[in-house]
Amino acid sequence: MFGLLETRLARLSVAAAVGVLAVPAAAAAQAAAAPKPLAPLKVIDTSYMNRGAKACVDFFAFANGAWLAHDTIPAAYSSSGVGRDMSDRNELVVRSVLDDALARRKALPKDNTTRKLGTFYATCMDSTAADQMGAGPLRNTLSAIDAVNSRGALLSVIARLQMSGSNVGFGYSPDPDPHDAAHYLGGFGQGGLGLPDRDYYTKSDPSSDSLRKAYVEHIAKYLTLTGNDAAGAHARAARVLALETELAKASMTRVAMRDPSALDHPMTLDQFHAITPNIDWAAYFHDAGAAVPAKKLNVGQPEFFKRLDALFASTPMDDWRAYLRYHAIASSAPWLSTPFVNEDFAFSSRFTGAKQLLPRWKRCLRVADNTIGEALGQAYVAKTFSPAARARAKSVIDDIRASFGQRVQKLDWMSDATKKQALHKLALMGEKVGYPDTWRDYSKLQTVEGPFILNLDRANAFEWKRTIDRPGSPVDTSEWGITVPTVNAYYDPTKNEMVFPAGALAPQTFDPKADDAANYGALGGSWAGHELTHGFDDEGRHFDAKGNLRDWWTPSDSAHFAKEAQKVVDQFDAYIQVDTFHVNGKLTLGENIADYGGLLTAYDALERGLKRNGRPGNIEGFTPEQRFFLGYAQSWRVHSRPETMKNRVTVDPHAPERWRVDGPLSNIAAFASAFGCKPGDPMVRQQSLVPRIW
Ligand SMILES: [Zn+2]
Repeated sequence: MFGLLETRLARLSVAAAVGVLAVPAAAAAQAAAAPKPLAPLKVIDTSYMNRGAKACVDFFAFANGAWLAHDTIPAAYSSSGVGRDMSDRNELVVRSVLDDALARRKALPKDNTTRKLGTFYATCMDSTAADQMGAGPLRNTLSAIDAVNSRGALLSVIARLQMSGSNVGFGYSPDPDPHDAAHYLGGFGQGGLGLPDRDYYTKSDPSSDSLRKAYVEHIAKYLTLTGNDAAGAHARAARVLALETELAKASMTRVAMRDPSALDHPMTLDQFHAITPNIDWAAYFHDAGAAVPAKKLNVGQPEFFKRLDALFASTPMDDWRAYLRYHAIASSAPWLSTPFVNEDFAFSSRFTGAKQLLPRWKRCLRVADNTIGEALGQAYVAKTFSPAARARAKSVIDDIRASFGQRVQKLDWMSDATKKQALHKLALMGEKVGYPDTWRDYSKLQTVEGPFILNLDRANAFEWKRTIDRPGSPVDTSEWGITVPTVNAYYDPTKNEMVFPAGALAPQTFDPKADDAANYGALGGSWAGHELTHGFDDEGRHFDAKGNLRDWWTPSDSAHFAKEAQKVVDQFDAYIQVDTFHVNGKLTLGENIADYGGLLTAYDALERGLKRNGRPGNIEGFTPEQRFFLGYAQSWRVHSRPETMKNRVTVDPHAPERWRVDGPLSNIAAFASAFGCKPGDPMVRQQSLVPRIW
C-alpha cells in the first residue's frame, strides 16, 4: 500500500503496457528477428554535454544539452534517455533468455519452470492466433458478466476480474499491518477507474471535457467490437463514465494520500460491514479464493467504500454490466485481435504521445517480466551481473548509509531524542542488492499452448492466490517487489528496506570500472542516497525502524521538518512542467526531499573517500567534485513527449528531470564551489530560501 516505486522505468512502461503494435504478419516476423547489439553506456559521457551552456545558469543543459539537442524520441516511446537506453540493453538479455525457453520448451518436463516461461512467451508472440480468435478467448468472462443480475453476482464477478488482473470496483491486497508491520492484514483501497487519475473526471476545462468525450467513444468502441449495436453502446458508455465519475469524486487525491495517517483505518470485518451494508465481504473473500475472510483489515479510504456501497444499491445492473464489460475488455485488449490492439493504442497514446506500437517481442517480454518475472530472473543474472559487480555496488550503498548516519549526528536543528530514533531506523534499514536469495516457486503455475489471454489469466491468478491467504501470517521479508531486469529501485517504508535490482546496477547508473566520483554521483546520489532518504521524507518519516506507523519525532523537530519541507514545496511549485502547467510541489515533495538528501549524503561519502584514498587527477578535464555532479545530472538525462509530461503533472510524484537536477543543486553550496557559481547566479538559491533538512 505504501510502496514507493520510482518511475524511471514506469514512465516507459506506460507506453509499453498500454501501447501495442498491430503490425501485419510479415512485419511481425521481421520484428522477431534477433535484434542488433547496442553500444555500451558510460556513467559519464562527455559527448552529451553542451559546453556552450553555463553550468551556473542551467546545469541540466550543461550536462545533457548536446544529447538533448540531437535526440529524437523513437515513435514507439513516450520518452528517451537513461531509462530507455538501459532497458533496451537489459531487454536484449531477457530476450535471449525467452528465446531459449521458447525453443527448448517442448523438450522439457511439464512442471519445469523454463517450459512454463517458454509457453507463456510463445503464446504471446502468436499474433496470427490472436487475430483468428478475435474476442473469442473472452467469451466465458463476458457471459458471466451478462448474467450479473444481483449485488451478490456483481461482487462475485468483481472478485473474478480482480483475480485475473483487472482494476474493477476497488482494490484489495494483503499488506503489512501499519501497526504490526511483522504481519499482514487485509488491505482495501480505492480503485476501479479507467482513466489514470480521479482528477481526469473532476476537472472542468476544455481539454478535460474533450478527453472525457474521447473516453466515452473509446468505451463504446470496445462494446461495439464485442457485439453491442452502436447506439446502445454509446448510451452505455456514457453511463460507464457517469458511474466512474461517482467513484472518482469519492476518491482521495494523490496529494491527500501522501499522509499515511489519512490512509490508516484499521477495522474488523464487522465494522467494515457496518459502513457498507450492501456488500457481503465474507462472500467476496470466498469468491476471491481466500480460505477464510481476513479478520483484521485496513480500509484506506472509508468514504470511498461508503459511496461504492451506495452505488451497489442505486446504480442499475445494466450500468454495472457495461462497466464490468468495458474493464474486462480493456485489460485484455492489448492481447486480442488487431482492432482491439489498435483501439487500446490509440486511446493510451493520448497520455503517452507514442506514435507507434512497440515491436511485439518487446510487448511480450514486458508482460512476461511483469507477471512471471522471477521465472526469468535467474538466467538473466547469470548472463549479466557478476558477483564482483554486486559486491562493488553494495560497498557504494553501504558507504552512503554510513554517510547518512554521520549527517544525522551533525544536524544542528534536530534534538538528541529524535536523532537516536533516526539512527536506529537507519541501522535497521534493510537492503536488497542485485537479485533475491530465494527465487519464487512456480510449481503451482500452469501455462498451456493456446490463447495467450488464458495464460495471462493463469499467471495473474497464480500471483493472486500466492498472497490471498496472507492476512495474519508473518511478512515475507525475502520477497522482492520488482524483478531483477528492472531499471528501477524502491524504498518500502512498511519493511524499512531499499531494493536495487541488477537491471539498475549497470551503466549508465553504475560501472564497477568507472571512477568513484562518477559512481557516487549516479548510483550514490540519485539511487542509493535517494532511496535511503525516502525513509526520512514527508511520508517515510512517519514509519519507525520496524515499519510501524508511529510518531517518533519530538513536536519541535516535526515542526522544523514541516517548515523546511514547505520551502521545498514552494521551490518546486514555481517551476514550469510543460506549457502553462507548473510542477505540483506537494505531490513531488517526497521525491524532491529524497533527491536533495541523497545528493548531500553521497557527496559527503565521496569527500570522505577522497580524504581516505587520496585525490585522483582530473578525468576528461573535470575534478572529482565536478564529475560527481555531472554523474548525478547525467543520471537524469531524460527527454519526454509533451503528452506524457502533461499526464505526469497529475499522476507522477517525480518532478521533471531538469528540475530534479537544477532544483536540488541550486541549494547545495558544494555545487556552487565546484563550478565557481556566485550569489545571484540562477544555480545559486538565495540563502534564506534554502531548505535545511537532511
Ligand atoms: Zn524516489
